[in-house]
Amino acid sequence: MPKHTIVVIPGDGIGPEVTGAAKRVLEAGGLSAEWVEVAAGARAIEQGFESVLPQQTLDAIRAHRVCLKGPVTTPIGQGFASVNVQLRKKLNLYAAVRPVRSMPGVKTRYENVDLVVIRENTEGLYSGIENEVTPGVVTSLKVATETACTRIARYGFRYATQRQRKRITVFHKANIMKMTDGLFLQCARRVQAEEYPSIGYEELIIDAACMKLVQDPTRFDMLLCENLYGDVVSDLCAALVGGLGVVPGANIGDEAAVFEAVHGSAPDIAGQGIANPLACIMSGVMMLNHLHEEGVGERIRNAYNKVLIEGQVLTRDLGGSAGTSEFTEAVLRRLA
Ligand code: NAD
Repeated sequence: MPKHTIVVIPGDGIGPEVTGAAKRVLEAGGLSAEWVEVAAGARAIEQGFESVLPQQTLDAIRAHRVCLKGPVTTPIGQGFASVNVQLRKKLNLYAAVRPVRSMPGVKTRYENVDLVVIRENTEGLYSGIENEVTPGVVTSLKVATETACTRIARYGFRYATQRQRKRITVFHKANIMKMTDGLFLQCARRVQAEEYPSIGYEELIIDAACMKLVQDPTRFDMLLCENLYGDVVSDLCAALVGGLGVVPGANIGDEAAVFEAVHGSAPDIAGQGIANPLACIMSGVMMLNHLHEEGVGERIRNAYNKVLIEGQVLTRDLGGSAGTSEFTEAVLRRLA
């Protein structure tokens, strides 16, 4: 197997714990990798960098084109701009892909959930353009461009075609945000009609859509969302299949791809050795598919599925009492 050079950002909070676990599992599954570790987030400042997203980190991802990333902490309010927003914009990682599936052995209200959230990753209310108009009055600018709306729609429909998905549902609020969400819809409609007429297409206003998601998530196949809706809906969807511990993600661009779980740095449990590393391991499996190492991915998927089905070694978020390393060891044993 060729040796892959993979950038790894351990991140903050539970990030080093879960990325460490994922690296071990990926290697035990048969991945031959040279890891290039770089810093981002609070850890970058602790290491003496002036920026939460050092140039060296961006250069490494540009050079090697693939990265496994732990979550990073973004302070609320004043201070540094979000690392994630900067990273996604600077590397043009325009498509966030979050597969949300019922996991074997993980009991939730629903069975047979199998949907994919596609989130536009570069604009919307994440433009970071906020102004104080006058003391006590502030604004935040929602940006939509035809280029980015068309690009994400095309990505979603292409993904649907490649993965034999049947239908895309766009979540929107174009009844209120007539121009921005209106443009998002226009672009999606056009891409579907002109390029992918065989993929089903549906539009739902986001408030009603959330109700429908909670009532019966199995009616959905793929969701296409602008940035903020995609962010919120991803966590909602995670809750339908067992929580943030089991939902992986990828941020895809034309030049690079960054794989990371949907969850954040979980400061409430950081350093306690109890975080579920599975979402990060699953993000690693998405990375393996991206690297055309599907066989390794399959082996790892079988290993963690066995651990889940046996139900003896589960982390607390899944109702067990195992720690991060116990769960990781259980997966490693199934790979041995
Ligand atoms: P969070 O996802 O970190 O945590 C939400 C809840 O889920 C917490 O109770 C946490 O303990 C639990 N949780 C999350 N991941 C878990 C895991 N793997 N195993 C077990 N439990 C888990 O969200 P938050 O608390 O709103 O955000 C914390 C920080 O993370 C913030 O600074 C936020 O900006 C950042 N964040 C970063 C990313 C990223 O880097 N991609 C994504 C989301 C949030």
